[in-house]
Amino acid sequence: MSQGDTILVVGGAGYIGSHCLWELRQRGFKTLCYDNLSEGHRAACGETPFIEGSLNDEAKLDKLFAEHSIRAVFHFAAHCYVGESCEDPEKYYFNNVASTLSLLRSMRRANVKRFIFSSTAATFGNPVRDTIDETHPQDPINPYGRTKLMIEHILKDYKEAYGMEHVILRYFNAAGAAEGGVIGEDHEPETHLIPLVLKVALGQRDDIKMFGDDYDTVDGTCVRDYIHILDLADAHIKGLEYLENGGESAAFNLGNGTGYSVKQVIDTVAKVTGKAIKSEAVGRRAGDPAILIADYKRAEKVLGWKPKYGDLETIVKTAWDWSSSHPKGYDDR
Ligand code: UDP
Repeated sequence: MSQGDTILVVGGAGYIGSHCLWELRQRGFKTLCYDNLSEGHRAACGETPFIEGSLNDEAKLDKLFAEHSIRAVFHFAAHCYVGESCEDPEKYYFNNVASTLSLLRSMRRANVKRFIFSSTAATFGNPVRDTIDETHPQDPINPYGRTKLMIEHILKDYKEAYGMEHVILRYFNAAGAAEGGVIGEDHEPETHLIPLVLKVALGQRDDIKMFGDDYDTVDGTCVRDYIHILDLADAHIKGLEYLENGGESAAFNLGNGTGYSVKQVIDTVAKVTGKAIKSEAVGRRAGDPAILIADYKRAEKVLGWKPKYGDLETIVKTAWDWSSSHPKGYDDR
């Protein structure tokens, strides 16, 4: 097995990848970013050396692996819009599945054998219970979730057949930003609740539409488990250390273990920003379960991971520090 010194972060210019790069650099890891900038931002990668390229370009990947001493690959490069994945599944299967296979093939040729994979709660599909641990059935209800589950299966086969080790991390609702407001969330289009409510606080949107207020929840709006982005980054690093200490390849659910309703998120944004937030209840969004909360006990027990930025106010405050200091995001489009 290669004994490299550099963590290759694929998709490191995106929201979650860039925060992982940030945390890796804070802890003194040597990092390298590979990204096609289709959705990410060069500025999000900070001082990390950057190679622009497509995952389908295996020659470029082979060259990268030949020229750098890669210790492990953290893979974040994927399309992530559920609605778009239903309208254009080919885009998702090609980018999220075929491109990941190119990366894995290139890793095999280079004998790089540690892979940390961004997966999602969407691989579980409709929850059969409110709190979801790793034993919950995986039956995704949209192409996006299926692409992620396919890679989970591929990784298990790669482990059996080729000895490539993996840690699969299934995120619930990633939110917040690194302290100091230097990097943050900047999607185009933005569909996620917290950044959209912050746009209302910034005066960039008139109101926030609440998708459904007749769910069987505390106040009728959907309940989600919001997990701070640096807690996710911490789990990636703990996942790597776990593999390097001889841990078995495994999958972990990552959330706070606490749910907040859409209304609670809106109220928290109003409190943190000091702005009035206009909201309007509209119809339910297709494919939204009422409640999604992670059970992260396995990550706690096996990785020694626990969320540090658990409360919603902290999560919203860090997101607000970023969006209020960067009202146009990275402003690179
Ligand atoms: N949501 C909402 N209005 C919006 C965007 C999202 O009411 O404009 C709700 C959505 O229905 C879900 C929750 O907020 O219950 C979180 O949605 P988001 O898209 O942020 O993440 P998801 O849970 O889909 O991964």
